[in-house]
Order: sequence, then structure tokens, then C-alpha cells
Amino acid sequence: ELFAPTRANARGWDLADARDRAEYEAARAPFRTATFTARPILADGPAPGGDPVAIVNPADPSDTVGSVHPATRSEVDRAVSAARPWDAPASERAATLARAAALYESEAGRLCALFAREAGKTPLDAIGDLREAVDFLHYYGAQASAVTTPPRGVFACISPWNFPLAIFTGQVAAALATGNAVLAKPADQTPLIAHAAVEILHRAGVPRDALQLLPGDGAVGAWLTADARVDGVAFTGSTATARKIQGAMARHLAPGAPLIAETGGLNAMIVDSTALPEQAVRDVLASAFQSAGQRCSALRCLYVQQDVFENFRAMLFGAMDELRLGDPWDIATDVGPAIDASAAEALRAYIDAARARGAVLKELPAPTQGHFVPPTVISVPGIAALEREVFGPVLHIATFRARDLPRVLEEINATGYGLTFGLHSRIDDRVHQVAAALRVGNLYVNRNQIGAVVGSQPFGGEGLSGTGPKAGGPHYLARFTTAPAARADD
Ligand code: GLU
Repeated sequence: ELFAPTRANARGWDLADARDRAEYEAARAPFRTATFTARPILADGPAPGGDPVAIVNPADPSDTVGSVHPATRSEVDRAVSAARPWDAPASERAATLARAAALYESEAGRLCALFAREAGKTPLDAIGDLREAVDFLHYYGAQASAVTTPPRGVFACISPWNFPLAIFTGQVAAALATGNAVLAKPADQTPLIAHAAVEILHRAGVPRDALQLLPGDGAVGAWLTADARVDGVAFTGSTATARKIQGAMARHLAPGAPLIAETGGLNAMIVDSTALPEQAVRDVLASAFQSAGQRCSALRCLYVQQDVFENFRAMLFGAMDELRLGDPWDIATDVGPAIDASAAEALRAYIDAARARGAVLKELPAPTQGHFVPPTVISVPGIAALEREVFGPVLHIATFRARDLPRVLEEINATGYGLTFGLHSRIDDRVHQVAAALRVGNLYVNRNQIGAVVGSQPFGGEGLSGTGPKAGGPHYLARFTTAPAARADD
């Protein structure tokens, strides 16, 4: 109750409403062809960075969005030396983060243009990402005065490209709300939107030595996590990278320095014979293909009860034919591109191998340019056939018989991941049986399994899916302070 949300979530725009849609289009329009530059932002101002690297729209190779000058080794070193915890009363930190939230909203046009052009996000996804970022700023700010333990000191925040504003902002806002200094290392694919965010946070009043931006690739992250002056790391990304960070921290950082990691998922959904098929189809489409499947929460393996499979398959494939794949700038687009050429190539190779063994059940035509991977359905005997997280619009389908359910649940737990799970069923007992058996962070019943809402659906997983505590929940901030570690099931 201490941390009950004190305000409504950010509104965003309702794209089904003509007035909202026009407002959204008008806000973005000035940034359709603008070019942007990202550089390190250090305590004493912008730094030159290294040689520029072009940032190209993943949907359109002819659209150069801008360039990034990655932080050099010596700039990273200067940033670590200059970092100073934010020594202001909690109420002032909260007010500053709330001012930043208002600026995010008033500058939504620029940010949403970048979501589309730098990250390939559709308008629906862009609005979701922006709203979540605004929510994090308010939610963590509002909790700041309730946290009485001191900050850790200097936090490295290493964030992914798939939520280039929301997760970037969530980590940074949590570390700042608790009074830490932040060294922010955004994904190398999405430095431009992170640069815009840091400029806004500074303008709102976050001190420059409390928040520095260090764009670059994995090398920058490796320098930070190997630096003994860093007191903690917040990371969202792959399980493999989290392991590397853990190794680096064990060698260089003080024992007990926290790693707050949110990593991958091998997420399943079960649709049984009592499910409402129209609703289940809609929720499968959203869970598997929204954001082109590039969410760690996304549905990877769908289990459909044998008795209803034929009917369900026909409805699902029919609905897939209605999906619009294309320019993420366009409001009518449902599915945008993969983030970059190497992601698209890996996904295509994975699909090609499945096609070669006759396992592709359904695929859509792809646009001829850009890093598009069409939504694809692959048949598998069960989730155990997935060796790793396939981070794209690829849905695996298996069937099950009612009496096999306990085995299916065991198989899902046996992946070692435990992020999201979806169940479509109208049998109450089954809901309880499944919830009791599965080790997952976020379990959704009769709805899609993506888009956890800050303050009401704390998000994070178990096992290989992350360390906890859950983002957007009441126990997150404590881990950024010297409070003893919270329970694993927070
Ligand atoms: N929080 C997001 C969701 O619920 C997923 C975050 C991620 O993909 O890292 O869909």
C-alpha cells in the first residue's frame, strides 16, 4: 500500500480516434527527414566521441537518421571520475523527474519520430514505449521519499534497443530517484533517442554529474562493468550478456555490488478447448507479432489443445493474412522490421532451416527492402525443441491432449526461463493448477502476455529470465540502495 500508484498512467494517443491520430501525425511530421547526432554527454558537457557511425532506418536503407560518436576509453574514464551521487532531497528529485516526464510528453513528436526511424517501431509500439517511460519517471519519483536507505553510489545502466526509451528511462529514473549517479550506456542501435532523453533530463534539472551518457557498443559496457569505481549495474538484454557482466563484476566490483538484470524469455501460452477462439487468436497475434516479436515478454511457443487445433489454426492463419507488414512510420502498419541486418539475417536463417525440414506452417510475404522478417509459424513437438530465444516474429506451435497438461507444464518449467506465460481457458481449476505449477514472473489469463503496465503489473522473471526485483513494482528501488537484497519472489 505504501507504493500504491498515486496517479493515472500516461494517456498517450488513441490511434482509433481521428483527432488523436491527427495530433500524433502533426507532432511527428517536422521530424520525418531531420537528422540527429548522438555524442557522449559528460559532467562538463558534450564530448567529441570517436569516429561517427551512421544510424540507418531499419525499414528503409535510404533513410539515414543520423550518426553516433561512440564514447572513447578515456571519455568513459573521465565520466566515471566525475560521477557524483545526486545529493538533493527526495522530494526535489521526484519533482525533477516529474518535470522530465512532462517534457517527454511535450516533445513526443521528436521522440516518436525516432521510435519509428531509429528503432523501427510502429505508432502503437512507439506510444506504448513513451507512455511507459513517462510512467517510470512518475512512479519511481513518487516512491523516492519512502526509501530511507542511502544510494549505492555510481550505477551503470545498460539498456536494450527494443524499448529504447522506456527501459532506458526506467533504469535511469530508478537509480536517480534513489540518489545515485548514473552512467547510462544505451544499446548501440538506438543512441539517438537516448541522447534526446538525457538532454531532456538535464533540462528538467538532473545535475550533469549525476547523469552522463556514454553511447557505444559492448566495449563501453565492458569498460564500465570492469571499473571498480562502479557500485552497481542495471542491465536489460540477453542472458548471455548478463552472464558476462556477472563475471566482470565478480572480478572487479566490491562483493555485494548489485546486478539488477532483466534478461530473456522462452514464453509459452496454452489455449485449451474451452477458450474463446476469437479472443485467443487476437491475443496470440499481439503476443507473438506485435513489436515484430522483439520483446522479451513475447509468445514463442503456443500449445493448442488437439481437439480444437484445426479450427484454431484456420482462424489464426486467416487473421495473420490481415496483418500489415511495412513502414513503421505508417499508422496502418501492424508489424515493422527487425532491428538491423544481422538480426534479420539470423531470423531468416532460422526460418530457412525450419522450412528445409518441412516445419514452416505459415509465412507472410516480406517487403523487398529493409530488414523485414515476415511473421512465421513453425511446427514443433513442444517448447523443448527451442534451443534458444528466437527474438523476432516467429511463433512455434505445438498441440497437446488434456491428459498431457502436467507434462506440458513441466516442459515449460524445464526451459529454465520464467518470464511470461499466457493461459486461455474458462476452467477456473485449470487456472489455479497452472498458476501453482509454473515458475514465471508474469502470468496472464485470457489476455495477451505483453505490455506490462507500470504500477499495476510489475514486470520481471525467474531463473534465466532475470535477477528481480520486478520493474515498475514496489520493491525495485530498494535494490538501488544499500538496503539488504529483497526476496527473490518480489
Ligand atoms: N515490459 C515489456 C512487456 O511487458 C517487455 C520488456 C522487454 O521486452 O524487455 O512487454
